[in-house]
Amino acid sequence: MTATSLFYILISILIINFIFDKILDFLNAKHFGDVLPKEVADVYDETEYIKSQNYKKVNFRFSTITSTFSILLTLLFFIFDGFKIVDDFARFYSENNIVIALIFFGVIMLGSDVLITPFSYYKTFVIEEKFGFNKSTKKLFWIDKLKGWLMTIILGGLILSLIVWFYGFAGNQFWIYAWALVAVFTLFMNLFYSTLIVPLFNKQTPLKDGDLKTAIKKFADKVGFKLDKIFVIDGSKRSTKANAYFSGFGETKRIVLFDTLINDLTTEEIVAVLAHEVGHYKRKHTIFNLVASILLTGLTFYILSLFIDNALLSQALGVSKPSFHIGLIAFGILYSPISEITGLIMNFISRKFEYQADDFAKEHFGATHLISSLKKLSKNSLTNLTPHRYYVFMHYSHPTLKERILNLNK
Ligand SMILES: [Zn+2]
Repeated sequence: MTATSLFYILISILIINFIFDKILDFLNAKHFGDVLPKEVADVYDETEYIKSQNYKKVNFRFSTITSTFSILLTLLFFIFDGFKIVDDFARFYSENNIVIALIFFGVIMLGSDVLITPFSYYKTFVIEEKFGFNKSTKKLFWIDKLKGWLMTIILGGLILSLIVWFYGFAGNQFWIYAWALVAVFTLFMNLFYSTLIVPLFNKQTPLKDGDLKTAIKKFADKVGFKLDKIFVIDGSKRSTKANAYFSGFGETKRIVLFDTLINDLTTEEIVAVLAHEVGHYKRKHTIFNLVASILLTGLTFYILSLFIDNALLSQALGVSKPSFHIGLIAFGILYSPISEITGLIMNFISRKFEYQADDFAKEHFGATHLISSLKKLSKNSLTNLTPHRYYVFMHYSHPTLKERILNLNK
């Protein structure tokens, strides 16, 4: 194969990916106005239904514009040898491979983030604002951005440096070291995400005394889950949308309820949502996800190690001097069809897990309150109740509201 043909393969993958995505979006949008299935017909009243229709359309238009802008820019970057320009720039400042890789990815990430920021700003302060979801201030938006950058620079920079260093002394055996590093990092993040990362952005407080705590305690005792592992997070400082999640394992496990969830739902409904989260824990879903993600990382690094020495990867991007960082970019694109497939499988499993967690909640707390809480949550976030099944198959990590209600009523 020549560098030119590989270049065209890379471009084709990007374009096919984009077109495929747009077709799915379009199919999904064509069904926005479908008659609501009877299971979910009572979620919205007339005004809210119209509002939800508008919200879907506005978001569809917005995502079409953003993704078109982004693919055009990416293609221009490829066609005009963007990677070579950035590589030359990095090499101007250093001869050390680690420093070059850091500058290279630093410039590319900073550049793309600067270009994407106006879009996310618009999404928060125009779209979400218009539909009454946004609670974030401009100051908070920029502080979040800054913190996000700092985290990427410190954590991403550290991991990248180590991997380039591994490649320097171990050649294509580097993948074993890289895998071990990322596995340890993933494990560490799983254990300490709630205590190290979340506090940078949010406040978590133990449940306050009152009816809710009493009701939750009753349920927690029944299923053997410790009450001191349940926290409330101040999600309301950014958005009115409500959520709950389970994180960590062993001693660091915890269930986090958004304060917005507590405001929107009745006590029984909150216990039902909590029961669903306990279900994820009892059915060992977090452990499965952790193991799966570590195994997938290993597989990806191994395949990367088979390709990374090939000078063609760099030459395809117009860079004559082969290097790890350029090879990584080309590989990332070549690998993207495979990661689409693994993503699909993970979504499929995740939807199964949601049913299992729902079944657990049903078994230990009954289905009625979970159904009414799911309906309320869907209503309050103007959820699309008639997504196209192909779209669900590709993108949804949760079954649709209709499917969940059917399952809970079984
Ligand atoms: Zn769940």
